[in-house]
Amino acid sequence: MAFEGLTERLQNAFSKLRRKGKITESDVRDMMREVRLALLEADVNFTVVKNFVNTVRDRALGADVLDSLTPAQQVLKIVNEELTKTMGDTAVPLNKAPHIPTIIMMVGLQGAGKTTTAGKLALKLKNEEHARPLMIAADIYRPAAVDQLVTLGKQIDVPVFEQGTDHDPVDIVKAGLDQATLQKNDYVIIDTAGRLQIDQQLMDELVRIKALAHPNEILLVVDAMTGQNATEVAKGFNDDLDITGVVLTKLDGDTRGGAALSIRAVTGKPIKFTGQGEKLEDLDVFYPDRMANRILG
Ligand code: GDP
Repeated sequence: MAFEGLTERLQNAFSKLRRKGKITESDVRDMMREVRLALLEADVNFTVVKNFVNTVRDRALGADVLDSLTPAQQVLKIVNEELTKTMGDTAVPLNKAPHIPTIIMMVGLQGAGKTTTAGKLALKLKNEEHARPLMIAADIYRPAAVDQLVTLGKQIDVPVFEQGTDHDPVDIVKAGLDQATLQKNDYVIIDTAGRLQIDQQLMDELVRIKALAHPNEILLVVDAMTGQNATEVAKGFNDDLDITGVVLTKLDGDTRGGAALSIRAVTGKPIKFTGQGEKLEDLDVFYPDRMANRILG
């Protein structure tokens, strides 16, 4: 279960406070020290933790909280609100093009779940909007990537445009977009190449694809299990590509929560979806308030 460690530590901190009834400034300070440690241990970005703890502490030390009849509950409410705010406050929908097709470019490191998420998103659009997406296989470096996307396409009955692995990815994308125009697809989902880590050659290629395709949405797919590293990856991709959103995958695994809590604050870009499993239905819209509730248990 995701966030287990974080949830348990936060709950411990709150139950201590709750037992007190009337609470003092020093009780709040003690609790915030524990919250700070819990967040750092969950691999939340240091600056994000600092800002979060300062904001919550300032609000919690207000007379309206300490003098209230239920101070511990008030503090918990503040923590919940600030967690929600840190993760972006409200869900941010997919950007849509004014005229079809809406072009979505998927980017991310190898193994993050980019190809799987492309399929999940196509299925979601098909099921929820009766959309007719086309997927483009533009990862020519990982030999099995094209086949993987074609197989996914068959499973969900979504067409895949591919030209094997011998063409320039930019040319493949151009030909794929032409086909989408001819066939009046309302969405185009471009699966791009990933690497084990960010490298300049990969970024240059992605920048060229972006310049050609003018995507409405550049979704960065990151693996929640990688915590602080996922946040760094998000910063790197955002610096070069000005991404429009993030998909946080593998939230069904044993994650510590660091990525979910840091990415929005560090990059300024919203988490739009979360991957909750390996099945193609396992893609959910990201709601910051629900995630805060889940973290607080
Ligand atoms: P890519 O290299 O980024 O295209 O990654 P893939 O799409 O090939 O995914 C890598 C592995 O992660 C595959 O085994 C996927 O089934 C798995 N995966 C992707 N998303 C999720 C998720 O949300 N939860 C879990 N448990 N596994 C996922």
